[in-house]
Amino acid sequence: MPGPGYAHFGAEERRNLLAVVDSWLATSDAHSRPPGVDAQVRGLERELSEYFASPHCLAVNSGTSALLAALAALGIGPGDEVIVPGYLYTASVSAVVFAGATPVFAEIDESLTLDPADVLDRITPRTKAVMPIHMLGAPCDLAALGQIADDHGLFLLEDAAQACGATYRGRPVGTFGQAGAFSTNIFKVITGGDGGFLLTPDERLFQRAYSFHHHGWYPYGEETGDGDQLFGLNLRMNEFTAAVARAQLGRLDAILEHNRTLARALSAAIPARDGLRPRLLHDADGDCATLLVYLFDDAASADAVAKELGTRTLLHSPKHYYGGLPELASLMAGDARPSPFRRPPERPRHDYRAGALPRTDDVLARSLALTVGLTDTYLGADFGLTARSTPADVDAVAERCRTAVAEVLGP
Ligand SMILES: *Cc1c(COP(=O)(O)O)cnc(C)c1O
Repeated sequence: MPGPGYAHFGAEERRNLLAVVDSWLATSDAHSRPPGVDAQVRGLERELSEYFASPHCLAVNSGTSALLAALAALGIGPGDEVIVPGYLYTASVSAVVFAGATPVFAEIDESLTLDPADVLDRITPRTKAVMPIHMLGAPCDLAALGQIADDHGLFLLEDAAQACGATYRGRPVGTFGQAGAFSTNIFKVITGGDGGFLLTPDERLFQRAYSFHHHGWYPYGEETGDGDQLFGLNLRMNEFTAAVARAQLGRLDAILEHNRTLARALSAAIPARDGLRPRLLHDADGDCATLLVYLFDDAASADAVAKELGTRTLLHSPKHYYGGLPELASLMAGDARPSPFRRPPERPRHDYRAGALPRTDDVLARSLALTVGLTDTYLGADFGLTARSTPADVDAVAERCRTAVAEVLGP
C-alpha cells in the first residue's frame, strides 16, 4: 500500500503540477533553458530547509540517490566501512556498496533500530560512518549514536527515508549528523511520485553533493565556484516531482497529526500484556506513526498471530531484512558479482588531458550547431529553430544565418 502522502493527494498537488505544465507551455519556444526551469526544485529545497531548520537541502531523484550523494560528499569509498543496522531497506546497503565502501552490519534492539552498544563493538580503524535508519517512521537513539560518532570521529549519516517529519527530543531526524537522507517515493510519509532529498548543515558537503548529483557542476549549475569538482551523475529531481512534493510538504504536519491520532487510538485499544508489548520508541511523540508495531516474547507466537491475521512478521518483509538479501549474502561470501563495479586500476594508463585526441579537437573546433527542436546552452546549441517555430520563424532564422556567414566569408 502506498504511504500516507499518497492518500492525502488533493487539489494543491494538481494545481502545482499544472502550474509547471503551464509555465513550460508558455516558454517552450524559448531558445535556451527558460529562466524558471528549476523553480519548483529550488522552491522545494528552500521550503524543506526552512521546515527542517537545516542550512542546506539538495533535492534528488530518490532516497537512494540522497544516500549515494551523501556518501560521495563525505568522501566515503573503497576501504572504508559504514555501520548499518540489519533491519534496513536494501537501498541503505546498496548505496554503501555503490560507493565502493564496505557495509558492516550491527544489531537492532526492540526499537527496531540500531543498538548503540552493538555499534560500539563493530567499530574498527576502517570505520568511517554510522548510518542509523529510522525504520518504520520512528527515531533511533540519536543521543547515544551521536555520542558514539563524536567519540570515535565517525560521520553520522541518517537514513530518514521512512521518517520524514519524525522528531527526536523535539528536533527533526535527519538533522543530527553530517547528512540526512529522505525519500519521497509513493510509500513514504509524503510523496512526489518518486524523489528524495538530502539535508546537511555543512556547506562543503552540500557543494560536493551538488556536484555529484549534477554532473560535476557547482551550485546551481555554475561552471565555476568554490569547492571540489567531482565526477558526477544525474541524480536531479525534476520539476513535476518537486511541484507535487511542495504540495505534500504543506500537508506534512496534518499527515503526521492524522497518523498519530489514529495510532494513539489504536494503541490505546491494544494495550501491552504478558508476552506482548509495543515496540520501544526512543521518542514516542516524535514517531511518524505510519505503523504501530508490537513485539511478542517468541517467534512462534508472533508467526501464529501473523498467520491468523493473514500477514507475516517483519522477518519476512522482503528487502528489509539483511538475511533476506541473497545479493548481500553472496557479496559477504567474497563473490564480487553482485557488485557491478570492480576496483579501478592502480594507476591510470590513459591520458585524459585536452590535446590527447587532436583530430577530435580539430573537428569540434570547426563545428557549429543550429537548433531545430532542441535548444541547449550546454550543448552549444543556442541559435536556430525550436519545436514550435512557424514557417515565418524558419525564414527569419535562415536569413540571419546567411547574413552572418556572408559577413564573415563574404557574399
Ligand atoms: C525507501 C527507502 C530508501 C530509498 O528510497 P527510494 O526513494 O526508494 O530510493 C532508503 N532507505 C530506506 C530505509 C527506505 O525505506
